Amino acid sequence: MVQDCVFCKILAGELPADFVFRNGRIAVFKDIRPHAPVHLLVVPEKHIRSVNDIRPEDGNLLAEMLFVAKETAKTAGVAESGYKLLFNVERGGGQVIFHLHLHILGGFQGI
Ligand code: AMP
Ligand code: ZN
Repeated sequence: MVQDCVFCKILAGELPADFVFRNGRIAVFKDIRPHAPVHLLVVPEKHIRSVNDIRPEDGNLLAEMLFVAKETAKTAGVAESGYKLLFNVERGGGQVIFHLHLHILGGFQGI
């Protein structure tokens, strides 16, 4: 757990979140300020700052994040209509929480 990391605090139970999935390696919870009707965050329990910091040994974890994302999209009812998966990387890429997370965005109107 990294001090002052909001997502580490959520994962440690020190801050609330609306979890939809958790398996000990990966958690999925609802984004607090949704940018789409369905906006979920796929978050590894391991603190990794950003995509820039992923290592070869994180390969299985990253593959599982993608797998969990597509399963969660199904559960959330957006798999068929479609959704976006997004990593913001560092400040210039729009990242504001420096604990790796994959956005699932779906349920857009008109689709
Ligand atoms: P990013 O810009 O990729 O770092 O995205 C961080 C996301 O985390 C934003 O969409 C925020 O709305 C979301 N967020 C920030 N704090 C919380 C929180 N306490 N619980 C759930 N989502 C959060
Ligand atoms: Zn963290």
